Amino acid sequence: MIVYLDNSATTRQYDEVTDLMAEMARNCYGNPSSLHGLGLDAEKCLKEGRKKLASAFNASPEEMVITSCGTESDNTVLTGVAKVPRNRAKRIITTSVEHPAVLEPAAEMERRGFEVIRLGVDGECRIDLEELKEVLTDDTLLISVMAVNNEVGTIMPIKEIGDIKAEFNKKHGTKVLLHTDAVQALGKISLDTKKDLRNVDLISASAHKIHGPKGIGALYVRKGVKLDPFMLGGGQERGFRSGTENVPAIAGFGLASEMAVKDIKARAAHMAEVRDYLRKGMLQEIPDIKINSPEDGVCSVLNVSFMGTRGEVILHRLEQEGIYVSTGSACSSNHKSSKGSHVLNAMGLKPREIEGAIRFSFNEFNTIEEMDYTLDKVKTAVGNFRKLGSFR
Ligand code: PLP
Repeated sequence: MIVYLDNSATTRQYDEVTDLMAEMARNCYGNPSSLHGLGLDAEKCLKEGRKKLASAFNASPEEMVITSCGTESDNTVLTGVAKVPRNRAKRIITTSVEHPAVLEPAAEMERRGFEVIRLGVDGECRIDLEELKEVLTDDTLLISVMAVNNEVGTIMPIKEIGDIKAEFNKKHGTKVLLHTDAVQALGKISLDTKKDLRNVDLISASAHKIHGPKGIGALYVRKGVKLDPFMLGGGQERGFRSGTENVPAIAGFGLASEMAVKDIKARAAHMAEVRDYLRKGMLQEIPDIKINSPEDGVCSVLNVSFMGTRGEVILHRLEQEGIYVSTGSACSSNHKSSKGSHVLNAMGLKPREIEGAIRFSFNEFNTIEEMDYTLDKVKTAVGNFRKLGSFR
């Protein structure tokens, strides 16, 4: 049995996406900028993909900039807003639990002379909105807060932050921008740019977290928001992001986003059911564990510390049983310090809690039967580790 529970790291492509991309790679290979028929065909597919992607955000296609990944979208924002000449503001507000795709360019901006404020979090990875209000000043350029934390699944109060920002701008005549890294939120919670996210200016997304292809991402840029391009060249993406478009991947992203947001409530409810089943089973059957994900966290993530074990060893033991999980976040494992996950550290976890942490992350195809199997194998792996001190 193979039980894939590392969906926050990446997902298996929908078969429909793979089929569409293969068909396009074979038959729709023109350059969308070419003036002949093959070029026009490619342009049509590109438009179609962008339209589907835009509708996942209830946005207009012109507001969607295609990038090469979530990381590029985040980098474009963090470095791009500062370059806009009219903006002399110097403060960037973010959190200490962002993905390195935000933390690293923020640190780079700091080296370039900007002031970066990193909001701390509590034991459930929540920021304090009062603290945000305190640090929000006239010379703030950007607020960047992720929509869903990738390691523990906490849903951040983006709507409330948007309201705070809008009110501040109105009162002070400022133009503070709000960015959210929604890489882990797309397909799990609503990202409606006309409703809850109406005061959000910039949103990062990535296809491979929603059963789309790897190496393609998007940045929603609200109409009227000025941003300097990250890549200069032929002026594709209305000048925001030059480079010949990866048409099959964009079409694949469009289809994946259409599928992932269709019946989103039912899909999320299924993932939550699977997650809750595993959480309950582990709490009942495995002693001395700590659930690090909040009860009201995103449907797709469950982070658990198995005290007296090493997450990495448990991970490899489970792998031998066909179960794939992660310690912290796979996509940033190169970024971990010797103290382990920066997110669990920021949440104030003790070293032994961090050392024994495993992230289980779900997709819409996981089943209760898979959770029974997983529970059984986790119980054995943890029990054996505790008995022997290690498997080695
Ligand atoms: N932001 C978050 C919250 C993520 O979880 C990830 C990847 O795991 C990224 C950004 C980076 O996305 P990509 O892998 O498309 O560069």
